[in-house]
Amino acid sequence: MPLFSKDSCIICTEEKGKLSTTPTGSGSRICLECATTLGFETTAANITTIGSMSDDELLNLSKQGEEMEEARKESERERNRATSGMLVTSGFNFDGYTVTKYGPHIASDDVYKEEMRPGFWSVGQSDQDENISIALTELRRKTLLELKGKAHELGYNAITGLDFSYTTLGPFNTNAHHGSDARNNLAYYIFLTYKGNAVVIEKN
Ligand SMILES: [Zn+2]
Repeated sequence: MPLFSKDSCIICTEEKGKLSTTPTGSGSRICLECATTLGFETTAANITTIGSMSDDELLNLSKQGEEMEEARKESERERNRATSGMLVTSGFNFDGYTVTKYGPHIASDDVYKEEMRPGFWSVGQSDQDENISIALTELRRKTLLELKGKAHELGYNAITGLDFSYTTLGPFNTNAHHGSDARNNLAYYIFLTYKGNAVVIEKN
């Protein structure tokens, strides 16, 4: 007894037209979207492969994919828990904790790009100033989170000697041939590097 009509996809069970489905080896159909999700982009070779696979094989593949996705999400949640609770300091130790292992010096970089409008460096550009200021705050937040993620991945639970620095790259540096237009509508890049020492700390 077929559970679904002939044109229902065996994976998502949606009814789809013949043209957007392809036959499986068991005589059912799988939609091209689900086929792509399983790693079979629509090519003649993949259509042939699907045609030689049973429904069970395809459903297993789909289940494995879901399990991998779930495992990926769980490790992301675990990483988020670890990084959001991670202690950091610009100094060398934490009150109430002992550093039990010193790890490597780690760094994390990110870049922010701003298109300069005419007269940016003159008075009256406060909105652009503010945009940059907001962007830099977000850039620092993101980059610090990345640094914590690196410490966590390496098996450490805190960072000492935390420090960050900026490097800017403007059009005058990148191209000397723009003449007097150089400062208008060209991108300025602001690079941010966060660095510190990964350590393991334990509560006293
Ligand atoms: Zn489907």
